[in-house]
Amino acid sequence: MITNALLLTRSQFFEQLKQAFIAHKSEQHNFAILIVGVNRFKKINLLYGIEIGDNILETIAQRITAILPEGNAVARIANSEFAILLNNLNHIGQVMLATNKILSVLGETFIFDNQSIQIKASVGICRPHSNITRADDCIYYAEQALEQAKKNNQDYVLYSDEADITSASKTDLEAKINIALEEGEFELYYQPKVDLKTGLAIGAEALIRWNSPFLGQISPNEFIPIAEQTGQIIPITFWTLNTALRQLSEWPDMCSNLNVAINFSALATKDEDLVERLESALKIWGVDYHCLTIEITESALLSDPTKTFSILKKVKNLGIKISIDDFGTGYSSLSYFKNIPATELKVDQSFVKGILNSPTDLQITKTIISIAKEFKLKVVAEGIEDKATFDALTGLGCDIGQGYFIGHPMPIQKFIAWLKSNYASHMVTALPNPTDKPSQKT
Ligand code: C2E
Ligand code: MG
Ligand code: MG
Repeated sequence: MITNALLLTRSQFFEQLKQAFIAHKSEQHNFAILIVGVNRFKKINLLYGIEIGDNILETIAQRITAILPEGNAVARIANSEFAILLNNLNHIGQVMLATNKILSVLGETFIFDNQSIQIKASVGICRPHSNITRADDCIYYAEQALEQAKKNNQDYVLYSDEADITSASKTDLEAKINIALEEGEFELYYQPKVDLKTGLAIGAEALIRWNSPFLGQISPNEFIPIAEQTGQIIPITFWTLNTALRQLSEWPDMCSNLNVAINFSALATKDEDLVERLESALKIWGVDYHCLTIEITESALLSDPTKTFSILKKVKNLGIKISIDDFGTGYSSLSYFKNIPATELKVDQSFVKGILNSPTDLQITKTIISIAKEFKLKVVAEGIEDKATFDALTGLGCDIGQGYFIGHPMPIQKFIAWLKSNYASHMVTALPNPTDKPSQKT
């Protein structure tokens, strides 16, 4: 049975924070402190009364504890502020995922006395770094980050953005990313995507891998956020695009009808020349527009929707597919769907992993599938790790699946071998016919 994070008193919370800090110093235990603040809470009390204000605070605590697994802790530390201790972290992606989930559940309407009430929350985040000598400092820095988030009307601010990665190590990584681009240290792995009804491959997601001679294997979750801050994500994205299209074009018999998905960061989708750059890459490698998907996360899509929507609309009009990645972790309002320049929603793997055990994750997945159907979008489930989950998603009407149960991300040669066995197990007739390849649009 899955249990959730505990709601603690202030003193219990500070005791747990102290323990996490000691473990961090002695055994590399990684944790983060999040402080969630409700903006203009006094106004809510004034508008709806103190009783409803208290009910809202109680519900906030329930919503936060319900989405965080056991081992993490939550406490109300000030009138309209909650502190969260996230334990056992492997990478910054987990902090961002938790932050997005919290903002998402707090963005849902609160209903009391038949009144629908909407609140706006902000989050300040602090991860332990060299400036921090006492456990309480984490709270101080997270408070500072929260203040900055509220002041700038941002959803969250990560204090460690500036302080955790010291300038020296950030510059060092930036220099190493430049060397990696010049020396060809990046590689692409392909993770199969299959039609859930037939089990037949429909394409793959291209995922970057970096084996640095100085640093060893580095996860994209570590270096992509740095590359986004430094702007190096633009050359990385176009390296990824060109490499994937070149590799597909080298296997015309196997790949001419397959679709390759490339991850695009927020910055890359705001590039004014994006449409021309995509067209020229497709022309160079002789790949048809419908064979390319651009994956953009829901939060990146919403960071500057007017600009991003207008650029992506042009991309979509060319016939290139657009997938909203990690769907469900941001908080798109339904009104966006009227104009969303997308062809596909990708249910975030945190929900997919929970569908067999968590009624909430199952409900969220069902809702995403029905939204996708309503707006005539394909729906992909990522992070399928076992047959039971594969079967359950097929039963729910999900179109496409991706995950370790189907295939891990793999180098191109291995992916081609995987494709051959996938087609073979679905009989020879399932092999794509190279002559079916639609002609390249001009
Ligand atoms: P994403 O686009 O959501 O990619 C899915 C991630 O989930 C990949 O991690 C993949 O290896 C992993 N995954 C797939 N199936 C399973 C499963 O069944 N179980 C589990 N536990 N994990 C699974 P990866 O390759 O480490 O990539 C992490 C993130 O880094 C990606 O998330 C994407 O946001 C970013 N990324 C990767 N490659 C690129 C790239 O070329 N460009 C950009 N901008 N971002 C990239
Ligand atoms: Mg992706
Ligand atoms: Mg994803």
